[in-house]
Amino acid sequence: MSHGDGDHERYAHYVQKDKIMASALDGTPVVALCGKVWVPGRDPKKYPVCPLCKEIYESMGDSGGGKGKDGNGGGKK
Ligand SMILES: [Zn+2]
Repeated sequence: MSHGDGDHERYAHYVQKDKIMASALDGTPVVALCGKVWVPGRDPKKYPVCPLCKEIYESMGDSGGGKGKDGNGGGKK
């Protein structure tokens, strides 16, 4: 029950699918949406989704559909 460094390993982070596949081949870490450098587990579905990643993912506006993704994130860094 530590509250420290190990906790993020227990979440399933959102990562671009391409990178997950590359990581699955290489075992190389990927950068999650939340910025966490993370090696996806064999079965991420058994972990809860990282709240930060989920928030970021949802703020990317995937649910709206049709607002224009390209215009949305411009200049935000
Ligand atoms: Zn995350």
